[in-house]
Amino acid sequence: MKSLFATAVTALWSSAFSSAFQHKMTNWAGNLEYGTERLHAATSMADVQRFVKANSQFKVLGTRHCFNEIANTDTKFLSLRSLDKVIELDPKTRTVTTEAGISYGQLCPYLDQRGFALHNLASLPHISVAGACNTATHGSGIKNGNLATQVSALEMVMASGDVLKLTRDKDSDTFRGVTVGLGALGVITKVTLDLQPAFTVKQYVYENLPFDQLYQNFDAIEASAYSVSLFTDWQKHRINEVWLKVRTDAEPRFESKPEFFGAQIATKNLHPIAELSVENCTEQMGVPGPWFERLPHFRMGFMPSAGKELQSEYFVPRRHAVEAIFAVERLRDKVTPHLLISEIRTIAADDLWLSTAYKQESVAIHFTWKQDWPAVSKLLPEIERELAPFDARPHWGKLFTMSPAHLRSRYERLSDFVALARKLDPRGKFRNKFLEQTIFI
Ligand SMILES: Cc1cc2nc3c(=O)[nH]c(=O)nc-3n(C[C@H](O)[C@H](O)[C@H](O)COP(=O)(O)OP(=O)(O)OC[C@H]3O[C@@H](n4cnc5c(N)ncnc54)[C@H](O)[C@@H]3O)c2cc1C
Repeated sequence: MKSLFATAVTALWSSAFSSAFQHKMTNWAGNLEYGTERLHAATSMADVQRFVKANSQFKVLGTRHCFNEIANTDTKFLSLRSLDKVIELDPKTRTVTTEAGISYGQLCPYLDQRGFALHNLASLPHISVAGACNTATHGSGIKNGNLATQVSALEMVMASGDVLKLTRDKDSDTFRGVTVGLGALGVITKVTLDLQPAFTVKQYVYENLPFDQLYQNFDAIEASAYSVSLFTDWQKHRINEVWLKVRTDAEPRFESKPEFFGAQIATKNLHPIAELSVENCTEQMGVPGPWFERLPHFRMGFMPSAGKELQSEYFVPRRHAVEAIFAVERLRDKVTPHLLISEIRTIAADDLWLSTAYKQESVAIHFTWKQDWPAVSKLLPEIERELAPFDARPHWGKLFTMSPAHLRSRYERLSDFVALARKLDPRGKFRNKFLEQTIFI
């Protein structure tokens, strides 16, 4: 079933990973050196079960794209990256079932070739499906839930080595607890994802949208395309770039005009950080293309984003979007010197316990920072204080400084999640310092 493309991607990844072994093993951004080099690359389901039974504590590692310690351990890693096959595409139920190590970059071309699509993607396709869902990774769009909302069924090896199969329809409560699981509940070995017919997207970029326009027309701007991303450095009271991802089958049709809420249409492809090369960015200028080559900002096969960076992101209820953006704008002269770029996106509400959009139409305010943790770690508490009136929730895979008490007050199902984890994993086999210090405290 595995396509040549998928095999090539896996081979590339494996060689990058084995060469990483010759140095210290780090996360993608290189800001974090992992606590051990001991990694077992699982080759089969039976192998996963054997490993789980034989080890009293370890961490599953996806594609290493988290910026904080969530995926770190000083015991052992289990990698499922070789378990990356598509198991079944069912046109009747419009679902695909895959092994959990597959990345979106591997899965999407496979789906598109067969006439199917996922409803949305993150800014990059390089990440593993299981790792993304475990941290509630998201794209943008007021009607688009995060990537974990695509999951309709999953299979997980529990601490005992036994297999737990859950579906959204039959096991709804446990399923909602497990899907955004922070890697704390078990080893996800298979996922079934909802599909829809493949669709075409055109991407338009506009430059210099005045903040006054944004503050007056936030909902209209966000509703103007299937997915909207606003990039700003917080200076000059403006959004530097507006990225509109427009479905060609959407009604009413989007007519690109030279001006959009006071912003001007770009005359060439742009990187979100305007000074950087566009080589790694997806095609813009209204050129139609398949969903998976337009919904992410960055192309498979190239380095996404800026590379040497840190990331943080906070989610607030969409009804507070303007006040929250304004609150961050007030900090601009402290933020900008340490910033590469910020991005503002929207996410539809869902019912997954630890989702950043749990029961809340959300706006996400993201920061791509220069890699200067001493400076960023001083700034985050200030940003968190400014966003506190809106009960901001942090992204699970990015850097934050919020206390466990704050987390408990923002994620209302956190205590249910802890109880579920204690039931499924009574001896803490899947825990690490991050989980002990933020969740299980
Ligand atoms: C350049 C860049 C761009 C990004 N863009 C976005 C974006 O647009 N939107 C967004 O929301 N986030 C974004 N992120 C963050 C990223 O999507 C998340 O950090 C995501 O979790 C990464 O997946 P991973 O497989 O690399 O996870 P890892 O860092 O490897 O692991 C994350 C967690 O998942 C667990 N895990 C992984 N696989 C399994 C499994 N099989 N079973 C159980 N647990 C598992 C791990 O134990 C860990 O707790 C970006 C990150 C980078 C570096």
